[in-house]
Amino acid sequence: MTLNSYFQIHHAVSISPKVTPIYQTSVFTFEDLNALEAYFQEPGQHYMYTRYGNPNTEELAQEVNKLEQGHGAVVTSSGMSAILTAVLVYAKAGDHVLCAEEIYGGSSSLLSQELTHMGIEVSFVPTDDIFSLEGYVRENTKLLLAETISNPMMMVMDLRQLAQTCQNHGIKLIIDNTFATPIITNPLTLGADLVIHSVTKYLSGHSDVTAGVVVASTPEDVTRASQIMRTWGLNLSPFESWLAVRGLKTLKLRVREHSSNALAVAKWLQNHPKVQEVFYPGLEQHPQYDLATQQGKGLYGGMLSFRITDDTEAVNRFMRGLSQVPFSPSLAGVTTSISYPLGTSHRGLSKEMQEKMGITVGVVRLSVGIEDADEIIKDLEKGLAAV
Ligand SMILES: *Cc1c(COP(=O)(O)O)cnc(C)c1O
Repeated sequence: MTLNSYFQIHHAVSISPKVTPIYQTSVFTFEDLNALEAYFQEPGQHYMYTRYGNPNTEELAQEVNKLEQGHGAVVTSSGMSAILTAVLVYAKAGDHVLCAEEIYGGSSSLLSQELTHMGIEVSFVPTDDIFSLEGYVRENTKLLLAETISNPMMMVMDLRQLAQTCQNHGIKLIIDNTFATPIITNPLTLGADLVIHSVTKYLSGHSDVTAGVVVASTPEDVTRASQIMRTWGLNLSPFESWLAVRGLKTLKLRVREHSSNALAVAKWLQNHPKVQEVFYPGLEQHPQYDLATQQGKGLYGGMLSFRITDDTEAVNRFMRGLSQVPFSPSLAGVTTSISYPLGTSHRGLSKEMQEKMGITVGVVRLSVGIEDADEIIKDLEKGLAAV
């Protein structure tokens, strides 16, 4: 490469692509000191260093922010780093945070095993106490972390009521909206202070990206989240940002299809003699069906769980009986997959807690894809026949 070939290409050709190109560069150049000053004077108009900001991460942040109706968003390297960023926006050493007991395993590990070592105390709040927080809020309590739809039992949280409870106690509310997606629920419009997503799941949607995002409701929180992301080095790469933006373009179509397929599959499972119980917010007997209908804009998402006989070998026969649907412990891809909460996501919980949450040997989780519903049902029929 000659010394200035890049400049020759860059300055000689006038290109205007329809789609944002991948700015796979770790750093940007400045014409002179005036250009450097412009970077500091007009934030968001110029770029300096990709860890601070990059056109691809910025595009992803803006698109998610629009969907969540926030005041701004910060993209991170994973859902986990988004949760870390969100908690650090409000909490420091000496503070106390609350976390819903039914929560993603990584979130509870982050709080109970990592942040406690840094002087942030945590208490887990059982579902029964979540709308009162009676006996949990202390003088140094800063926030509550909860999820819109819980995994794997698909309990739907009344976010308006939860936000009111937090407001009454003077603490912030952080909502993990990964399972619901902004197509189904917008927590900021219901009173939450911060929303996080594992972009790895529905927002990118094709099982090929690991990413996260924090959406804030005030300019101060956007600035603070951005500071944390830059300083801790929690940024996302340009290429993964680009892939996530590409996935995001079809989010609405995918979520509609995931939802209608999941409803069809849930109804079918419910009538299957080998299925004891189905957990899906779109079924009328689900304990939060009315709330889910109203808060979820008539869509119930692509995730469901069901219980077959509590026998490990029966579960193995079911898995081996499937020929199209793989056992793959993640979710939200365009193709259907199953997961096994007791052996993966909820493996680390105590036996007592697993029982309390209803996660028994026979509980299987299904991430319903966007194939034809008939095809999915045909394969599940094969699996259940083998049980
Ligand atoms: C997957 C997941 C996370 C963690 O996201 P990563 O992208 O894997 O870091 C957090 N919350 C929920 C609800 C998830 O499903």
